[in-house]
Amino acid sequence: MIKLNKEELQLASKINQLKDEAGSHSPSIFTLVKKIPELNVKVDACFLSNPYATDLFLSYLKEELVNTNKLRDVLEFYPSQNNVISELLAKNLCINKENIFIGNGAIEVIQAVLHNFVSKKIIVNIPTFSSYYEFVKKDTEVVYYQLKKENNYSLIPEDYVEFVKKEKPDSVVIINPNNPDGQYIKYKNLRYILNELKDIKNIIIDESFIHFAFENNDYDLISATELVKEYNNVIVIKSMSKDFGIAGIRAGYGVMNKYKVASLLENGYLWNSSGLSEYFFRLYTRQDFLEEYEKVRVKYILETQAFFKELSAINHIKVYPGLANFVLIELPEGTTSSDFVSKMLIKYGVYTRTCSDKIGLKGEYIRLASRTKEENTVIIKALNDIFVNE
Ligand SMILES: *Cc1c(COP(=O)(O)O)cnc(C)c1O
Repeated sequence: MIKLNKEELQLASKINQLKDEAGSHSPSIFTLVKKIPELNVKVDACFLSNPYATDLFLSYLKEELVNTNKLRDVLEFYPSQNNVISELLAKNLCINKENIFIGNGAIEVIQAVLHNFVSKKIIVNIPTFSSYYEFVKKDTEVVYYQLKKENNYSLIPEDYVEFVKKEKPDSVVIINPNNPDGQYIKYKNLRYILNELKDIKNIIIDESFIHFAFENNDYDLISATELVKEYNNVIVIKSMSKDFGIAGIRAGYGVMNKYKVASLLENGYLWNSSGLSEYFFRLYTRQDFLEEYEKVRVKYILETQAFFKELSAINHIKVYPGLANFVLIELPEGTTSSDFVSKMLIKYGVYTRTCSDKIGLKGEYIRLASRTKEENTVIIKALNDIFVNE
């Protein structure tokens, strides 16, 4: 059991207050350090991004924008319009530009889809990323499909299909791999689900973590993007924040049938990208960048999977390894996630994510992101110390 001393308890109550104010997301590291200067944060294992991809993006940005003074153009002028950026991406995604909708982060695509296409009833699998039930319209009914603890919170296709057919919603959401448990639905199973659910109006597939998942020993990833050609009801939503490590520039997109894209663009979203996100999307279509990116993607996957293995060897905690860049961890009985988060932050400088606000989890859980190799070592050391010495 984790015990906090008097000093730690005082800081812990400040941490908990900030968490309460942040609702179903976590306070950012900037907020934490600004409001609680006593904290010495060494590792942010709360935010889910590939740090090597951020380094890569920064090196391009420095060389091509900062050193050449082109940054001024990117900031001074309007970025391209939504459908111009779609055209850039089309070749890269092997899909027509008419099927692509660019968002100011995936969150804007999620809102647009929930507000424009989802009508009476949506099925959301829990535990999940909260926006899918928080941002629905007031008159949309949300039905939860509980992912089962005994299956490590992974989705069982047959059981899911049966549930959906019984409930008859107009829309469903599948996050693949899922946040916060990292469980991945293989391409074959996804196709099975789509074949069974042809009558559902909207099948939303959120692939924000797909670059961390793989189907085979070569670490190949298979995106559902091209399934939009085959299944008219599929809407793929993709954030670039996590796998490219660029949450600050706000880049995401949706792929869906062309009538949906046209109806969204008809009355809005004209210049919703920033100059910097347009610069990113242009890089994303370049072979030289993609080759470099593939290297840091696989490097990070290898380190992440090795990190999960080390975590699984730690006594007293139950690790649910998946194919995302984070793991769900169940804490031993008698330990609350808020005490754990406070202890890790105050004593070891490691910021972890409580899952106390996540509906559909039975027990006390935290979510831990994989960071650089060095940072992961700090995390493992802290965990070993906490569960051996505390
Ligand atoms: C983080 C996250 C998003 C939001 O991504 P942005 O592009 O930063 O808006 C969407 N879906 C899931 C599942 C996420 O985890």
